Amino acid sequence: MDKISKYDVVIIGGGTSGCACAYNSSKLGLKTLLVEKNNFLGGLMTGGLVVPVMKSSVEDINCNYYKALVEKAKKYHAQITYKDKNDGWFNPECLKIVLDDLLTDYDIKNNLDILFETIPIKIQKKDNLIQSVIFNSNILSIPIEASYFVDATGSGEFSIMCGCEILNDSELKQQNSLRFILDNVNIDKFKVFLDELNDSEDITNTYRHDIDTNNELHFTTASTWDNNREWKLDKFLKKAVDEGILFDSDRAYFQIFSVAGSKTSVAFNCPRINNYKDNPYMSSLELIEARKAIWRLYNFVKKYFKGFRDSHISNIATQTGIREQNRIKTKYIYKKDDILTQKTFNNPVLKANYSIDIHSAQKDKSILQKTASYELPIESLMSFDVDNLYVIGKPLGADFYAQSALRVQKSCMSMGEAVAKYIRNII
Ligand SMILES: Cc1cc2nc3c(=O)[nH]c(=O)nc-3n(C[C@H](O)[C@H](O)[C@H](O)COP(=O)(O)OP(=O)(O)OC[C@H]3O[C@@H](n4cnc5c(N)ncnc54)[C@H](O)[C@@H]3O)c2cc1C
Repeated sequence: MDKISKYDVVIIGGGTSGCACAYNSSKLGLKTLLVEKNNFLGGLMTGGLVVPVMKSSVEDINCNYYKALVEKAKKYHAQITYKDKNDGWFNPECLKIVLDDLLTDYDIKNNLDILFETIPIKIQKKDNLIQSVIFNSNILSIPIEASYFVDATGSGEFSIMCGCEILNDSELKQQNSLRFILDNVNIDKFKVFLDELNDSEDITNTYRHDIDTNNELHFTTASTWDNNREWKLDKFLKKAVDEGILFDSDRAYFQIFSVAGSKTSVAFNCPRINNYKDNPYMSSLELIEARKAIWRLYNFVKKYFKGFRDSHISNIATQTGIREQNRIKTKYIYKKDDILTQKTFNNPVLKANYSIDIHSAQKDKSILQKTASYELPIESLMSFDVDNLYVIGKPLGADFYAQSALRVQKSCMSMGEAVAKYIRNII
């Protein structure tokens, strides 16, 4: 196939932010192509098993896609609204089907093409503009021209291919995680165990609402080795370390949630693993370590927690949980101070209040700093080096601390939506 196809917008990466961009771009009448390297959409929301969406937006700016996603997921029993009114509790596996349905809805499908299992391999640039990109789909090369390109790869990979500068402003790194799910858990029994813990409500809580949750029992609980609060589960983790079932590092971050649309599944936001972002050999070894840790954690909960005795490992994330990798230089580099001083901007992409959230490798060095409402300008999504390129999601142009707040899913979706609307206005 060597005939050049032409689009208004090409989005590389069909994950959290890319799907939001593609949905809005095609709905606004722009001829859009969404290119995804996996054989499904959703990125970290599906392949990474990252649930639930953190509550973050304080005003509904650029939340049309998020609302449409919630409504569509309801039809598949793939969503619940938790008792804190967070309606972003999704089922990560079923979300793959939900996203297919949402992005092939009758009012957008005429404007949107999707290419799965496809990656960009060659970029043709003239001055500061991308002219065309060759994509590779197995053995086929597909040349594409477009007016605008959007990097939604989560890693900034496409921008780096285009020669964009990476921000190099911090020695700090976020820890990665490899999430997994256990099935066949007796959550009713586990609730009895949680009730006996008598933990604080902001760490451990449960919820059953017949209408919302199809009579499923839902919960969230956690324990970390950072000492800023009393973690009631930690005594079990410590005992398991003494008995050689867990390693001390397994105590670093232990967090589990029930899963929407399931009466028996429990999702783990752990184990944490080291982030060797510049060393693919070490990163690969870390994945092997992560799966060993999953096995330890599985044996731990089976032995120590009521309700887990007959459980089994049903899913291990196919996408590594990388919180921060590369951030790309944009026209405005958004800073931690912009969050803390609540700086306002002419065209805010979002208004959010999710915390500055650093998962550190060192004990007592993680940060979860509460913030008031902050805004993000569209200029932090405009590539500095390439005039027809936007960067959305995790690799946005922000400093290390600001990125840790803006990376949550709802904010990433608003970034995708804002860029689509911005391009619609200038095209
Ligand atoms: C362990 C972990 C836990 C988290 N917990 C939460 C949480 O509880 N709640 C919350 O709201 N947020 C959470 N987050 C943050 C949030 O999930 C992510 O920051 C967000 O989903 C990132 O969205 P994105 O669009 O940037 O990337 P992704 O969702 O990762 O999408 C990137 C997409 O691009 C595709 N891609 C990559 N390279 C290419 C290529 N070359 N060609 C084509 N396609 C490509 C990928 O396959 C993927 O589909 C967590 C993150 C991690 C890592």
